[in-house]
Amino acid sequence: MSKLVVVGTVAFDAIETPFGKTDKILGGAATFIGLAASHFNTEVGLVSVVGGDFPQEYLDMLASRSMNTDGIEIVKEGKTFFWSGKYHNDMNTRDTLITELNVLADFSPVVPENFKDAEVVMLGNLHPAVQLGVLEQTPDAKLVILDTMNFWMDSALELLHEVIAKVDVITINDEEARQLSGEYSLVAAARKIHAMGPKYVVIKKGEHGALLFHNEEIFFAPALPLEEVFDPTGAGDTFAGGFAGFIAASQDYSFENMKRAIVYGSNLASFCVEKFGTERMQTITKEEITTRLEQFQKLTSFNIPS
Ligand code: AMP
Repeated sequence: MSKLVVVGTVAFDAIETPFGKTDKILGGAATFIGLAASHFNTEVGLVSVVGGDFPQEYLDMLASRSMNTDGIEIVKEGKTFFWSGKYHNDMNTRDTLITELNVLADFSPVVPENFKDAEVVMLGNLHPAVQLGVLEQTPDAKLVILDTMNFWMDSALELLHEVIAKVDVITINDEEARQLSGEYSLVAAARKIHAMGPKYVVIKKGEHGALLFHNEEIFFAPALPLEEVFDPTGAGDTFAGGFAGFIAASQDYSFENMKRAIVYGSNLASFCVEKFGTERMQTITKEEITTRLEQFQKLTSFNIPS
């Protein structure tokens, strides 16, 4: 079986949407990525850090979903990364209210010995210095995927460029692609980001789907139109986790296979938004994923009579 290393935040989130508000609940980029990737036939190893305030039951839940948690360091005297956000009425935009790095501020990632030969590495959203640290420990990776956000563009752009130059695939949302490239057109933005290093550029457009760019080719996967969207938190990470999990399981790094991977990413993300936080991600079944795959196929296939 292939191996997938996932580095990212394991966090507490407090979320407010037009439908309600939560106190501190389980969140974090690596959590959502891992929960999505665990649906595929690949060994998922999480690399992250939490504080002594992080409940053991959350770690047990991740382990019970066949994720290896040996790479999650517990800093007993520290506090877990905390993020709080509030969504606008359209649910597409949000304001970050609080970002407390806490134990993440001095984190040096350690990839467990048996994951150093992982075929696929998913650099989830966190400090680019930590992402670089993981890359140094996984020299055999056949595919490196990077996810990041404006927070790191604003606070560590130079290091972020160093990471971008080293990865094969970057997944980024439309607003951040514009910020990173200085281009409004997403086609022009993708071209510029391409030139920074990644051979594949995936631009996530929330409820409007995702675009995959490779040289002069473009592929588009829609998001599933849903009757109810409860909380979009983690949808981007879940998308990246579905993408990475599928690619790692199939060990096929071609453009054709990446098209399938972004459909799987969109598929899993469509579940994530149905409940607060990770709640829905913890109950998805294989059958539900398959049914949604059929819905995606129906949504996008058509015949034009000649
Ligand atoms: P998404 O909605 O996919 O952008 O991801 C939301 C998740 O990202 C939340 O669970 C947060 O804990 C986590 N998060 C928020 N800000 C950051 C940050 N600056 N670095 C890493 N993870 C973050």
